[in-house]
Amino acid sequence: MRILIGECKQEISSFNPVLSHYEDFTVQWGEDILRFHRGGVMEMAGALSVFDAAPGIELVPTYSARARTSAGTLAGPDFHRIANEFLTSVSDMTNVAPVDGVYLSLHGAMASEDEPDPEGYLLSQMRAILGEEVPIVISLDLHGVVTDRMLQHIDALTMFHTYPHQDFFQTGERAANLLLRIMDGQVRPLTARVFIPALVRGNELITETGLLGRFVRQAQAIESGFAGLSAAINIGNPFTDVPELGSNALITVDADALPNAVEVAEAEAVTMAEGFWAVRERLQAPLVPIDEAVRQAQEGEGATILTDAADATSSGASGDSNAILAALVRAGFSRPALAPIVDAPAVRQATEAGIGATIDTTLGGSLDPRFEPLPVRARVRMLSDGRYHSEYSGAPVDAGPSAVLEIGATRSPITVVVTTRSVGLTDRSLFLAHGLDPQRFDAIVVKSPHCRYEYFDAWAARDLNVDAPGSTSASLPTLGHTVARRPLFPLDENVPFVPKAQIYQRRTA
Ligand SMILES: [Zn+2]
Repeated sequence: MRILIGECKQEISSFNPVLSHYEDFTVQWGEDILRFHRGGVMEMAGALSVFDAAPGIELVPTYSARARTSAGTLAGPDFHRIANEFLTSVSDMTNVAPVDGVYLSLHGAMASEDEPDPEGYLLSQMRAILGEEVPIVISLDLHGVVTDRMLQHIDALTMFHTYPHQDFFQTGERAANLLLRIMDGQVRPLTARVFIPALVRGNELITETGLLGRFVRQAQAIESGFAGLSAAINIGNPFTDVPELGSNALITVDADALPNAVEVAEAEAVTMAEGFWAVRERLQAPLVPIDEAVRQAQEGEGATILTDAADATSSGASGDSNAILAALVRAGFSRPALAPIVDAPAVRQATEAGIGATIDTTLGGSLDPRFEPLPVRARVRMLSDGRYHSEYSGAPVDAGPSAVLEIGATRSPITVVVTTRSVGLTDRSLFLAHGLDPQRFDAIVVKSPHCRYEYFDAWAARDLNVDAPGSTSASLPTLGHTVARRPLFPLDENVPFVPKAQIYQRRTA
């Protein structure tokens, strides 16, 4: 049995004004994909662990394009280059010999200048190359934007059940196991999708402790129950402004195991969607005004996490917001503070001046014009090449040339890690790589809506969701969606919702 595998993952914010490019991806072909992922923690690693353990499987690795971090909309020509490379690789490999099954690791929240549904495009083109019979199973992030075109061309999908995401590997394993069962003719997937016109955000999305967990556990029960193959609550990425943006209840059952598979899948999807819709108001993020957050950090006992979800690089923001930094400076913040920022010109200036020098520069606003560059006098404490390994995944990260700058009083300065490129900031890696233990600071700017509990929340006295401006603000109505199909909660008032299931089934009896 020949199984074709491939990967294409990026998450974008349409509200980040800086386009992303081909160079922002790590691209691999063929055996390099296997070498990279085997023994790893991502979805592809989980799928490979299943395929490697199954007898008589020949893997056909094709192409992988993984965005180094989330970013702005992908430039049109750069998406077409990725698509052409991917599809050429697929047709080259299938010309050698036909394949019996396909597993693709996708994210789902990609969008290019001229293609709002890149994953759907890739799947439709792949279907044209592979023919109608070959089963295709994909894995997706629960922030992926699921489109009708995607569902039409696949046999089934699996989706993360955790946020903050921890089950990358398991999601790949589930996809691979499901693909093997379809290839064996053991099961015949049928999917019911109920689109929910709602966008959600905030702490209730933490699956372990929040309200969203209820729907995830409902999905898991269906998935592991009789005739269940896969199930998910999907919330989309609220910053990817594309027509089918929203949430979905997705239920896949085995049509062979149930005489009334359509009705069963439909009923489960409608129940889940109705439950989700009923609590949509609670699935929003209460935010603390920026100056109030700085005041609490100044006066409160212990350390304060200033969560800048509006500039979350892992959600597609530019990482060059200085909104909280400016508020700290403006308030004359007098306790040790730590913040990351993307600012290539400031790094160049610090590098030219050298370690120990004092420079007059600006921080922030070099990419996203909504931020006014903040003039600062800063000491250059450290310079680095910005290369390190993620403390979570162990994967290499490249922030480009970087500088640690100190602003203000020498005894309790504001320490800023300035990078050339944006990197994911869902853990402490960038700080630790520069010898900065966040626990030694009283205020820490974290540019991610949620990190694993142990990284920041386990030891900080408080975690404040700051109402800062930015291209990934949790204040969703302020973002200015223009493409997403309306009406959509909470962008519009009095949004009607009549749950309606769409059924997808490729293999008829
Ligand atoms: Zn995600």
